[in-house]
Amino acid sequence: MSATLIKGTEIREEILEEITAEVKEIKEKYDKVPGLVTILVGENPASMSYVTLKIKTALRVGFKEIQESQPVDISEEDLLALIEKYNNDDSINGILVQLPLPKHIDEKKVLNAIDPDKDVDGFHPVNVGRLMIGGDEVKFPPCTPAGIQEMIVRAGVETSGAEVVVVGRSNIVGKPIANMMLQKGPGANATVTIVHTRTKDLAAHCKRADILIVAAGVPDLVKPEWIQPGACVIDVGVNRVGEKPSKKNPGKMVAILKGDVDFDAAKEIAGSITPVPGGVGPMTITMLMKNTLKSLKFRLGIQ
Ligand code: NAP
Repeated sequence: MSATLIKGTEIREEILEEITAEVKEIKEKYDKVPGLVTILVGENPASMSYVTLKIKTALRVGFKEIQESQPVDISEEDLLALIEKYNNDDSINGILVQLPLPKHIDEKKVLNAIDPDKDVDGFHPVNVGRLMIGGDEVKFPPCTPAGIQEMIVRAGVETSGAEVVVVGRSNIVGKPIANMMLQKGPGANATVTIVHTRTKDLAAHCKRADILIVAAGVPDLVKPEWIQPGACVIDVGVNRVGEKPSKKNPGKMVAILKGDVDFDAAKEIAGSITPVPGGVGPMTITMLMKNTLKSLKFRLGIQ
């Protein structure tokens, strides 16, 4: 039997509509809208396209959006001053610095300069600590893990008491999603195992998973025989494995993307599964919008 597809593209639309409605309601009641500033340094094409998508989404849901495009040779001092300006701007609820930054700028120093209460990416050490404590302490869960948890919940998958296996231990996906799934509370309460390159028997761990979350960045790493029949499989991996002609723009080549799971075989065994593309990918920017709205709600004391 074929697994149910958990489509990030559809869940994104649901959440963005919810955010739009809430923004409208807050505007009517408090005469305020969430403010997001996106800071882009230089002209890296991938960064420019990510920022463009973030701006487009922010405007779609009714946010105030400020775009700060800075030259590639901006000094670290000037960039820090720009962040300080928005830290002190009451109309701004979220500050986003698009990574990577040029080599002459200390990325860590810049990210740590963002006011933790405006750190809607959730990467500031204060927010990492809040996430670890869990419960009411959590302000801004990092966007990709938050998107993963939201997909699991909206797909109606039971997490309480479930065996969750997370493949990968990065600071942006593996560690935070593992931490979120083991917390006390709805959409969590799971028994969590994290596996990585030094794990002795990767297959044996994966086979135990009721919910298997894979964020390794290795195409087709997870074989169909590693999947427990009926399991929920969340494939975070995005791997460029080649190029093909674009359907929209004949003559232009576009990347062929593959996840970390052998999707065609896995979908015959899993109970539910995310596709790549169109699975976890669309959730990240969506959760960035959710965090920015939350930031305004915290400020208004209505969260
Ligand atoms: P990362 O920082 O490279 O971490 C990868 C993790 O996977 C590491 O912990 C590594 O283990 C583990 N790993 C790699 N190969 C493995 C193997 N053969 N067996 C077991 N574990 C293995 O990657 P990331 O930033 O977490 O991203 C992971 C994937 O998710 C990438 O494809 C990335 O493009 C994608 N991603 C997608 C989104 C999105 O869709 N929105 C967002 C973020 C990331 P060690 O620690 O032992 O090296």
